[in-house]
Amino acid sequence: MDLIKQHNSQFIKKGIVGPDLELFKNTIIRTNNFQIECKECERNKQKIEEMMKNIIDGHESYDYVDEFEEITIHLREEHNLVEKGYYMAKFSTSGTLIGGAILGFDHIGLPIGFIVGIILGTFWDRKSKSQRKVI
Ligand SMILES: [Zn+2]
Repeated sequence: MDLIKQHNSQFIKKGIVGPDLELFKNTIIRTNNFQIECKECERNKQKIEEMMKNIIDGHESYDYVDEFEEITIHLREEHNLVEKGYYMAKFSTSGTLIGGAILGFDHIGLPIGFIVGIILGTFWDRKSKSQRKVI
């Protein structure tokens, strides 16, 4: 964590900014918390430390995109966490499709499906946030 604070500009320069930086930080915090009980997270913590050192040393951050993605997948699948806005993205798309299928793919069915999807997505995103299920 301190490494990120110290080298914030380095990470920003390497393209890890805004929501990505947030996800990056949160993934580190989550992995730190789970490593006590989870061997995989213990290994991932070492990977992250290595990754951070390499980025600070000047390696390109996109070299680590896949590796980092694997770590977030582990958090999602093994520890039942979701990324911020996950349900919103999921429900707004499927809501639109379902709305279209039921009410017709026109100016009525699609927006109604979309709105219902947004409402459900917001509900589930809030629910998972309140249950501390967001990475
Ligand atoms: Zn784990």
